[in-house]
Amino acid sequence: MVTFTDKVKHLERVRRALRRAYGEAPQRPVTHPVEHLVRTILSEEATAEAVDRAMERIARCFADWNDLRVSRPREIREMLGPEFPRAGHKARVIPRVLDQVFKWHNSMVWDFLEPMGKVETRAFFEKLEEVRPFVAATMARDCASAHAFPVDRDVARVLGRLGLVDVESESESDMQAFLERAVKSDHAYELHAHVKRLAADVCVPGEPLCSTCPLKKMCPTVAEVLARRRERKKAKKPKKAAPRKKPAAKESAGKSAGKKTKTSAPRKSAKAKPRTGAKKKKTARRASRTRRKRS
Ligand code: SF4
Repeated sequence: MVTFTDKVKHLERVRRALRRAYGEAPQRPVTHPVEHLVRTILSEEATAEAVDRAMERIARCFADWNDLRVSRPREIREMLGPEFPRAGHKARVIPRVLDQVFKWHNSMVWDFLEPMGKVETRAFFEKLEEVRPFVAATMARDCASAHAFPVDRDVARVLGRLGLVDVESESESDMQAFLERAVKSDHAYELHAHVKRLAADVCVPGEPLCSTCPLKKMCPTVAEVLARRRERKKAKKPKKAAPRKKPAAKESAGKSAGKKTKTSAPRKSAKAKPRTGAKKKKTARRASRTRRKRS
């Protein structure tokens, strides 16, 4: 049975390997909490580049954050584009969350967060409808320096494949609670940033790119992925054609069954066969006897 201590050790090996592969991940200060919340919601299953492009489009298409708040989900979905991961869901959640905060504080400037402590900030976002635990954890970590390890689908997928969490039986809140106990607060931000990068570039949804993964030597899923790939290759290989039956074999089979085979080659009649010398003489003698009798 895998214990909590085993998982902590495994996580530490993962952290070190990712640090070697990706280097430092310095924490950026949050200058605008509304922008940070929108970016956080958009970031699930999307690359950093895709999120940056979406944020640029938001700035171009909407006059300000209040305009985004009052926009219809359809408009936001169209602005994000059909390729953007989970565009429909995100387009519905963003104005809904912004609107709830606006109704409570009658402002789109969230300076009311400043005096709030770590626990209060997290509780504030957790109270909002449609806000998933990873959004509340990110806002508490980045706006109030709380110790948090946000778990969205990307983080859950990577840590599940590494055998650190059970995606089937554990909720996102359970996984967050485990990671916040298992990872030191000094390491939490960097490890989270590295896991998100791995999820976007290598440990992608569907078929992960294990051959290029810096964690391939410590990941229990690699063997499974390779076995699946081998199976697929086998299934793709064309089957060898069955050897064709020789016509002669068919003919003899037909004869033995007492049937005429359509495909058998026409046999040459005995008359058509070239006669041998003995036969020729015999025939000549028979012909001369016939002639003598007649005469
Ligand atoms: S080895 Fe493969 S499955 Fe494991 S973390 Fe890396 S990409 Fe994901």
